[in-house]
Amino acid sequence: MPDKREPAFCRGRAWIELDQKALRHNVGVLRKLLPDGCELMPAVKTNAYGHGAVLISRELNRLGVNAFCVATVQEGAELRNNDITGTILVLGYTHPKDFLLLRRYHLTQTVLDLSYAKILDRYGKKISVHVKIDTGMRRLGERSEKIEEISKIFECRNLNIEGIFTHLCVADENSSESVAFTHAQAKAFYDVVAELHQRGFICPKKHIVSSDGLLYYPELAENYARVGIALYGVLSTRADTERCGISLEPVLSIKARIALVKDLFQGEAAGYGLQFVASQDSRIAVVAIGYGDGIPRSLSCGVGSVLIQGIKAPIVGRICMDQMLVDISNIPNVKAGDVAVIIGQSGDEKITACDLAEQDGTISNEILSRLGERLERQFVGKKEF
Ligand SMILES: *Cc1c(COP(=O)(O)O)cnc(C)c1O
Repeated sequence: MPDKREPAFCRGRAWIELDQKALRHNVGVLRKLLPDGCELMPAVKTNAYGHGAVLISRELNRLGVNAFCVATVQEGAELRNNDITGTILVLGYTHPKDFLLLRRYHLTQTVLDLSYAKILDRYGKKISVHVKIDTGMRRLGERSEKIEEISKIFECRNLNIEGIFTHLCVADENSSESVAFTHAQAKAFYDVVAELHQRGFICPKKHIVSSDGLLYYPELAENYARVGIALYGVLSTRADTERCGISLEPVLSIKARIALVKDLFQGEAAGYGLQFVASQDSRIAVVAIGYGDGIPRSLSCGVGSVLIQGIKAPIVGRICMDQMLVDISNIPNVKAGDVAVIIGQSGDEKITACDLAEQDGTISNEILSRLGERLERQFVGKKEF
């Protein structure tokens, strides 16, 4: 049976533990990379990459972080409703019907291009904005060569322009083409800033880099480093994490309860589609987490594993929405109520978000940001526990 002294949040079927020390450590090492005059502006969009936006932002506020970026106005409002202070930049599109929320919650909107600037301006009340410049990614932002259009953005009377920024798209790649492309992006951005200056327009805050940009081009960091993935202690892939040269510590662990243990006779099959067939008498555990919680179904049938008592137990059969089966034939004394580690450390073994990403053919960012609402999240290592 579950231990009565366990904190309530992890009496559930599956949960996320956040490591406060790891977050502090990552903030510390990333801050060391910042040039003078530059602050962290952590990306806490998509529920802080699945970690829990309010929990993470509150902790960051305590660590003196005073600027955040989110993807949507609703994400920004949620932070304000939980007393998060500082600048909150909305990176993405906001519907004109939601412009009032920008003002109500003191959010800063990204100007996506000149036509969006005009729509914001027509709202008729002052809105704080950062202007986005497209220097090569060809996603959001007015194209850097369209200096007349960019100047017109600066002429909008109702825009309180507090910043100007761009986004790098190959900062993680070290080929000579990618390095040249990144330098060209930076030059295009600085040319825009210089031209605006010539025309008498002031850009108070400038920012260019996200995680990879800060790691490999810290000289471009200017006033804000919009770090996301690195702050959470992993990079997109294992190779990136090994190459980056600084020690980041994963903030998140995922754990799930073993609902029951069951013996299978040789030749018996299990799970949807009976995809697992016991080649010998076997013992399986039903683990109370599934693809509904964000565990990729592609990890079914032996691709992924979980840790139980510091030993890897392969996922067998097809992962279901709320649970999955693991083979524990080689792990003695597993009982219902025991805990399986899906991401994190157990004994000397660990499984990282990058491992799951590799097995799923994606990047850790996608694994983390898809983690389900149903998982309760809590910092561990605090006095309360
Ligand atoms: C998500 C995002 C970031 C953070 O990127 P990481 O690679 O996770 O550090 C920074 N800037 C913009 C515009 C983003 O959309």
